[in-house]
Amino acid sequence: MNCPICGSKTKTLDVRHHSLRTRRRRECVECLTRFTTYEVADLESLPPYLRKVQNVREGKQ
Ligand SMILES: [Zn+2]
Repeated sequence: MNCPICGSKTKTLDVRHHSLRTRRRRECVECLTRFTTYEVADLESLPPYLRKVQNVREGKQ
């Protein structure tokens, strides 16, 4: 992920893992802008039989 302000590279300061989501606190190596990115599992990309399993885990039908 590049800096949204100057486009330079960024480094990860902190990572928090949630069940289906990862949150990263980032800092630009050039302008030192700090921002947060989220990484989310794309459940639509699962094969249909696994998507069913995921729905059961979340209590959906
Ligand atoms: Zn920057």
